[in-house]
Amino acid sequence: MAFEVIRGDVTTMPVDAIVNAANTTLLGGGGVDGAIHRAAGPELLAACRLLHGCKTGEAKITPGFKLPAKFVIHTPGPIWRGGQHHEAELLRNSYQNSLRLAEENHCGSVAFPSISTGVYRFPLQAGAKIAVTTINEFLKTAQNVKDVTMVCFDEETYQAYVEAQKV
Ligand code: ADP
Repeated sequence: MAFEVIRGDVTTMPVDAIVNAANTTLLGGGGVDGAIHRAAGPELLAACRLLHGCKTGEAKITPGFKLPAKFVIHTPGPIWRGGQHHEAELLRNSYQNSLRLAEENHCGSVAFPSISTGVYRFPLQAGAKIAVTTINEFLKTAQNVKDVTMVCFDEETYQAYVEAQKV
């Protein structure tokens, strides 16, 4: 079992499942969501339409279509609204439920973007800490999921995850 932090683009990852920082409609958006839909092709949107949305902190799975990844796990992370609206708990749920779904679908390798720390404005350091803790905890008991990669799109995000791993 291994958890790795890298800089890169999650849409290029040749893993069993990549996670999409989606919104609750699952009908596409900006940021990493838009990049995943562009790279996967229009079939992804068609598959997402059949899912009828997803609640914040929950997760749903589709094929990866044109992506190198076999599956896309879609999870809407929380929108930061000051920290008193269960944001931390909901972010933990997003990571946990995504990993559970990967485990149920016999995925050995999973790649994440940094959920909620973009347009949803979850504070980066706190978000990175929640991600690292939740993923490491999950890996202790996982049967199928062996390798998890946090794919950081920009240097600031990468540095925050490197720091979060230290303490
Ligand atoms: P959210 O709405 O959950 O905040 P965003 O897509 O706005 O989602 O941002 C989440 C993170 O994903 C940010 O760190 C952003 O820089 C990053 N990101 C954007 N495009 C990609 C990509 N292709 N691969 C990995 N991360 C990406």
